[in-house]
Amino acid sequence: MKQVSAVCELVNHFGQGTVVVENKQYTIPGLLLGETAIVELQDNFKGIIVKIQKASPSRVKAPCPKHDECGGCQLQHMSYELQLELKTKQVKDALERYHLDSSVLLPTLGMKDPFFYRSKVQMAISEKGPKVMAGFYEENTHKIVNVDRCYIQDDIANNIIRTSRQLMTKHKIKAYQEDKELGLIRHIMVKRSPTTSQVLVVLITQEEKFPGRNNFVTDLRLAHPEITSIVQNVNNRKTSVVLGDFERILYGSGKIEDELLGKRFGISAKTFYQVNHRQTSLLYQKAIELAKPKKEDIVLDAYAGVGTIGILFADIVKKVIAVEINPQSVTNAIQNAKLNHVNNIRFYKDDAISFLSHLADEDAKFDIIVFDPPRSGLETNFIQELTRLKPKKIVYISCEPMTLARDLQVIVDSGYELKRVQPVDMFPQTFHVESITLLSLK
Ligand code: SAH
Repeated sequence: MKQVSAVCELVNHFGQGTVVVENKQYTIPGLLLGETAIVELQDNFKGIIVKIQKASPSRVKAPCPKHDECGGCQLQHMSYELQLELKTKQVKDALERYHLDSSVLLPTLGMKDPFFYRSKVQMAISEKGPKVMAGFYEENTHKIVNVDRCYIQDDIANNIIRTSRQLMTKHKIKAYQEDKELGLIRHIMVKRSPTTSQVLVVLITQEEKFPGRNNFVTDLRLAHPEITSIVQNVNNRKTSVVLGDFERILYGSGKIEDELLGKRFGISAKTFYQVNHRQTSLLYQKAIELAKPKKEDIVLDAYAGVGTIGILFADIVKKVIAVEINPQSVTNAIQNAKLNHVNNIRFYKDDAISFLSHLADEDAKFDIIVFDPPRSGLETNFIQELTRLKPKKIVYISCEPMTLARDLQVIVDSGYELKRVQPVDMFPQTFHVESITLLSLK
């Protein structure tokens, strides 16, 4: 392989440096803008750093010892200020690519302490000889990198997973081996509320039969009295989706409650809930601040999850209608409204597109429509129904700038003005960025 000294002239959205050698561009993970390094070039237009000759002032030593191997964090070698700048640029570039007005974009809102923030932790379990391992897949592979302490995960969750590994060895419970189709435990998930301190542990198994289950559960609770519920989830499919359909509660109620902005939200194993607690408060506060809801407003929350955004809006406005497709989320959402004595919200279990289509047929009127769809963004039909409903304001929360910008272009072309885009850093140390966008009817 060829080694050359090169200067990094660009950093892409994934935080990877790029260098140009003999008119060919190579991606060099870990290289920062302006740095000079000896790099080893590979055939696939990628390269690796051999030695940094001139380091950027924004380079920091990644605190996690597994940073170079693990695919989970991509930006730990960057100062946090630079990470935030990169994220703002990522959103700006996406907007400009779709010919949208990027002057409405604000700088990304960061965290004070951008480590140990994930309150939902999910680790793949495997074995190496007698050792049980828990970790993440190496970038672009199916190889698991063992991680004893993940620097972006809640540390109590880190400890629970470490104990679980020891107890698997003690009780001779095998990790599932994909290639041999042998063993039992595939993943362990921990959800913890930093405000109520409740902890839910989910053991994802290959089959329902779980010899040693009672002893394992007893020992885990003894070692971690902070655990408030344990659930077994069975997933025997060959898939990268972590959770299966069947669930059995092994201890507690099968859910936890979290307190956020003065409200309480019940969360189950299968329901979506934002993972960064501190930033979620900020995200929702900013969404409300931008939307400026009024007492007489009628609001629609599409992709409602366990009802967080809808319930927070309901406190301010006249009425909220919410739609969500996952039945467990809808059950949580209805209970959450009751738990918070919020009576002016109604949840519907439906597909967002068909629900909006019915509403538009009935000529329903909304002042604000707020939505936070999955990463893939909105389907064209959703935008069609949305613009048929003609709300005065649209609040679009998105975790993927490219699909956001793609969708915004269509919404703007249908008669809306782009008012504000506010990125919020929900996922420090990674290249992911969440944004809140406000649009208003022209
Ligand atoms: N607004 C919530 C949830 C956002 S996550 C929050 O901030 O916590 C996106 C949600 O969209 C998930 O709960 C998912 O189950 C739901 N969803 C995915 N596809 C959907 C569809 N076609 N119709 C309605 N909801 C959908």
